[in-house]
Amino acid sequence: MAAPAARWAGGPAGERQEHAAGALSCGFVKASPQAQLKLLELAELDTELSRLDHRRRILPENAEFEAAQQRDAELRDELAALEARDSDLTRDQAKAERDVDQVRTRIERDRARLDAGQVSSPRELENLQSEIVSLERRQGDLEEVELEVMEQLEEVTRRRTSLSAEQTALADQRDEIATRRDAAFAEIGEQAGKASDSRAAIAADLPADLLDLYDRLRAQHGVGAAALRHGRCEGCHLSLNTVDLGRIRAAPPDEVIRCEECRRILVREQTA
Ligand SMILES: [Zn+2]
Repeated sequence: MAAPAARWAGGPAGERQEHAAGALSCGFVKASPQAQLKLLELAELDTELSRLDHRRRILPENAEFEAAQQRDAELRDELAALEARDSDLTRDQAKAERDVDQVRTRIERDRARLDAGQVSSPRELENLQSEIVSLERRQGDLEEVELEVMEQLEEVTRRRTSLSAEQTALADQRDEIATRRDAAFAEIGEQAGKASDSRAAIAADLPADLLDLYDRLRAQHGVGAAALRHGRCEGCHLSLNTVDLGRIRAAPPDEVIRCEECRRILVREQTA
């Protein structure tokens, strides 16, 4: 927002002049009642433009999209961790299978020796039989480990499937949010474009010193001009006292009046 203070009657010197001329008046800025009335249209358009700008900034789709992005990042991280876990478990599973196979082979070899009647000494026979028993126990333990790894792998796979499905749904949801957001932006942009065009057309017809004053006040107070309606400033809702109202009524129509309370330009709507 450009501050046209310098152009406006020389800045600080202008301020002093203004105060010297009395709080209710701008002193040196004069404008026809028609031009002053146009300020109200300008103020309405500026309010509309601020409202649209605010709406653009607080658009719920922005927050929704942001949340979806965040969830997507979480899903990516978790899926990457699961993938790493999956390859660890797959390796563990292969090792468990190898271990079981090894033990099973030894048991088969021992059994073959027994069956072939190769062992004759009772002591050796007893040793072999006890080795088979211990190997069978070992096989049971290893099979349990293998089973556990398989169960964990299944759980990882289940979780990966579920997260992948969520990721796919989230991508659709994000597209849908983006579509809504873009439509809202387009609509706001269109309205703002119209309001800007109307504003430019009105501003082009206003005297430069009046427009500068208005813009400066708008930069300071958000709204540069308000109507004087039923003895009240519509900007700050202050009711003027009868003395001030009398002075305003007595002032020439081209005098630019300011509200004592909010300092906005006070536009007399009708000379009633
Ligand atoms: Zn006021």
